[in-house]
Amino acid sequence: MTIDREHFKVVIIGSGPAGLTAAIYAARADLSPLVIEGIQPGGQLTITTEVENYPGFPDGIMGPQLMDEFRKQAEKFGTTFITDAVSKVELNDRPFKVHVDKQLIFADTIIISTGATAQLLGLESERRLMGHGVSACATCDGWFFRDKEIAVIGGGDSACDEASYLTKFASKVTIIHRRDELRASKILQQRVLSNPKIDILWNQIPVEFIGAEDAPGLVGVRVRNAINGKESIVKVQGAFLAIGHSPNTELFKDYLKLDSTGYIVTKPDSSRTDITGVFACGDVKDSVYRQAITAAGSGCKAAIDAERFLLEEEGQP
Ligand code: NAP
Repeated sequence: MTIDREHFKVVIIGSGPAGLTAAIYAARADLSPLVIEGIQPGGQLTITTEVENYPGFPDGIMGPQLMDEFRKQAEKFGTTFITDAVSKVELNDRPFKVHVDKQLIFADTIIISTGATAQLLGLESERRLMGHGVSACATCDGWFFRDKEIAVIGGGDSACDEASYLTKFASKVTIIHRRDELRASKILQQRVLSNPKIDILWNQIPVEFIGAEDAPGLVGVRVRNAINGKESIVKVQGAFLAIGHSPNTELFKDYLKLDSTGYIVTKPDSSRTDITGVFACGDVKDSVYRQAITAAGSGCKAAIDAERFLLEEEGQP
């Protein structure tokens, strides 16, 4: 998909709550931003079910609907969208260069809001059975496991959230956690512990996903006890990974300062990166809070920082 303009004052890469909030603010500041929204527009919230903690929605709102509303609001104030992925950026000189499909875009400023992606265990069997019983997205694939027994791997908020959600479909959900204590917030822990359809297997490390012999599909997860090393098989037809996320910083790693886990480093109390004119917001720079509301807030800050930077550059007060 190409557009008939090639130079923008503000180019926003990524379209989750951070990117779209940055777009709303930049558009309302008359900067006519471009959002390159990626191939999964809307970010992680589009693979979420109900969002109960976004202020302003006392009855909750479905993740995809919330992102639709963000997008409409950004569009209403004059944001241009490209629904494609950035293949390369060049950040040595300004205007910066952003390559999308066959098009080259020039940007006076860039706001990076590429978010984070679900982490995997890295097992060969995980790769082989992904989409055939193994999944990293409960919202996308839960429906396929109606009346089946499934496992959720992890012990954080995502694992507890997804385990609760999956009880809508599954006959039984087993959380497989590598420690003897959940990392999840108390309210989500309580939901899990009080749900009769959920069991927790403590101190168990998944070592293999076992496929069916006669047809594609999963028959179990081989786990190793973290204390005594004994292996056993948890018989399930589905397994969902919920072991955290890694930041989508591959495009920027040759240019920007990243921390030891790959997140973009920004100046204290600011969205400014170590390249003047490049800003970062949302999960790509936040390994701590990672909430839709904090991402949106940081998108707002990035747009304000970009606007102020452009004004300073033009010599305005
Ligand atoms: P997380 O908090 O980083 O938890 C990851 C879980 O996976 C941990 O329990 C960790 O075990 C386990 N784990 C990591 N690597 C593993 C491996 N190789 N093998 C086995 N287990 C492994 O990630 P998250 O649950 O996705 O949450 C991320 C952020 O999003 C958090 O800030 C969370 O609060 C937020 N979130 C909020 C909600 C909500 O409020 N409704 C829902 C989802 C996520 P250890 O505990 O042993 O480290």
